[in-house]
Amino acid sequence: MKKIVIAIDGFSSSGKSTMAKDLAKSIGYIYIDTGAMYRAVTLYCLMNGIITDKGINTDLLESEIGKIRIDFKNNETTGRRETILNGVNVEEDIRKMDVANWVSPIATIGFVRRALVALQQKMGERKGIVMDGRDIGTVVFPNAELKLFITASPEVRAQRRVDELKAKGEQVSYEEVLENIKTRDHIDSTRKESPLKQADDAIVLDNSAMTIDEQKAWLLVQYKKAIEE
Ligand code: C5P
Repeated sequence: MKKIVIAIDGFSSSGKSTMAKDLAKSIGYIYIDTGAMYRAVTLYCLMNGIITDKGINTDLLESEIGKIRIDFKNNETTGRRETILNGVNVEEDIRKMDVANWVSPIATIGFVRRALVALQQKMGERKGIVMDGRDIGTVVFPNAELKLFITASPEVRAQRRVDELKAKGEQVSYEEVLENIKTRDHIDSTRKESPLKQADDAIVLDNSAMTIDEQKAWLLVQYKKAIEE
């Protein structure tokens, strides 16, 4: 069967990762969470004195960017793909609030984007991939056969993220998460380097009032249409 590239972009906590992961699993494609890659770089910066209370030391980051190795590995028990930073499993740590608070500023840095985009393009060379992020349909794979743009209201997205973090035992307030989501939306949409924007040929989905099962079914229909074209 024809293999394609599926690019899923959208706002923070819009549920695009859940959709992308599910789709990849049901059609036997590789799933790549590019947000996890920007989060891994951010964690590296927090752990290595690149982010301090003075801000981001971009010169130091530029000299160390070549040392940051990001891979994904399947967890045999959960069946989930987990993020590996320089050989260490950081899947839990990259989802925490300190990383969420710094990831968007890190993702505005041109040399960081160029390094990660090059890696993402390499991962998608053989197609058969579902990749989610902010610039996948516009910059990483402008020729992707299927492009989707997912959105939902900031309030719905904040509640989803709160539920997710609480389920993992992290104590966060709804207000703190809503503020973080709005700030990230703003930084992501207004940055100079590949801002978050809908590709002209993307199909838009507002999933504020949809269940996960409804989204799953909708996505499968889009995939079937795309492989028939
Ligand atoms: O998708 P997730 O919320 O985990 O992404 C974390 C952050 O990484 C986003 O808020 C955005 O700043 C950045 N990002 C990006 N480009 C991507 C994926 C994520 O700038 N392709």
